[in-house]
Amino acid sequence: MSIDNSDCNLDFATRAIHQSQGADPTTGALITPIFQTSTFVLEELGKNKGYQYARTHNPTRTALEECLASLENAKYGVACASGLAAVSVVAGILKSGDHVIVGEDVYGGVYRLFERVFSRYDIKFTYVNTRVIDEVEAAINSKTRLIWLETPTNPLLRLADLQAVGDLAKAHNLIYVVDNTFATPYFQRPLEFGANVIVHSTTKYLSGHSDIIGGAVITSDEELYEQIKFVQNATGAVPGPFDCYLALRGIKTLALRMREHERNAIAVAEFLEQHPQVQEVYYPGLKSHPQYELARRQMSGFGGMVSFVVKGGLPAARALCNGTKLFQLAESLGGVKSLLCHPSSMTHAPIPRDVQEHCGIVEGLVRLSVGIESSIDLIADLEQALGLASKAVSSSAASADLIAAKSLVALK
Ligand SMILES: *Cc1c(COP(=O)(O)O)cnc(C)c1O
Repeated sequence: MSIDNSDCNLDFATRAIHQSQGADPTTGALITPIFQTSTFVLEELGKNKGYQYARTHNPTRTALEECLASLENAKYGVACASGLAAVSVVAGILKSGDHVIVGEDVYGGVYRLFERVFSRYDIKFTYVNTRVIDEVEAAINSKTRLIWLETPTNPLLRLADLQAVGDLAKAHNLIYVVDNTFATPYFQRPLEFGANVIVHSTTKYLSGHSDIIGGAVITSDEELYEQIKFVQNATGAVPGPFDCYLALRGIKTLALRMREHERNAIAVAEFLEQHPQVQEVYYPGLKSHPQYELARRQMSGFGGMVSFVVKGGLPAARALCNGTKLFQLAESLGGVKSLLCHPSSMTHAPIPRDVQEHCGIVEGLVRLSVGIESSIDLIADLEQALGLASKAVSSSAASADLIAAKSLVALK
């Protein structure tokens, strides 16, 4: 028995494990095999078994694509070699002269791809604050073809109103793309709010174990699917079967991982919110988040990403980032192991300092990808590291006093 796309009345957690992952018909293998082959033998001229050449189709990849589509309640999935390959494939359906409206705080690699690659083909991009629907609307012109946004955003966890943008896109006949990497389909399904295309970096929560690079494009629109599938095959940035297998393996536990990521993230956010060394906490699941109500309307959970500002600026952030023992200092997110990063010197370093400050990426900002270890241990780790941050602030204040005192002496 195999479950196909007509079984979407089954619950999310069940589809994550069974969708298009029936026992292998030739051997009975319970788990979808890794079809490590480049080509497929024809039965006779003009007759194949649905597979010809592995850039175009591979059975391990097909299982992943159909499973991903099902999790977004969509018809079609296209797996790519990375999240950015997925972004390129979608941008590859545009033509020169087209205009695209983009959220101003999209993933830095997306910004770089649009500005440094696709703008060379005379595609124009306008970056707007997608929290304000009037700004999105004001950016529309006669050449606009597509709206691209992320919600929640990185690293400040800001939200866009999915339905409001959906209504706008529909009224103006625009292709509406949502990068759903942060929330995952477990907590948010943008197609239900009018999005036409979903993009994922499966590198993050979907695979979930920080062990692959992968991406996906998902849609229910047959015409868009045909165009996207064409670009995927023509450009060739496809994932190998082993990575597809690892993504499928990760997806089987997506539902329970996301629940645990969220439970830990709430505990961590609440701990940080009451800590005297913390100035501000950004987490859409906190009542103090300015878009808490919107988050509750369009998400069924708040995810595992938490950002916060430590008091004392760079010296404090440095001591904290160098001082955690469980939270590993690294870029990326969405794995079972907790990570922390310092956006202004790491993920967002290419952005000039004044622009960073303008966007709220201050030097004291720290981003956490809260893993699924014990929340007691995670909080204890943050507590001791915040202690180091507070010491760093007092010692840097003391050394500043010393320098001031010395310069006074020098003046005399
Ligand atoms: C990581 C990420 C990407 C890029 O994905 P890769 O797999 O690294 O190519 C795109 N969008 C978001 C929101 C991401 O976090």
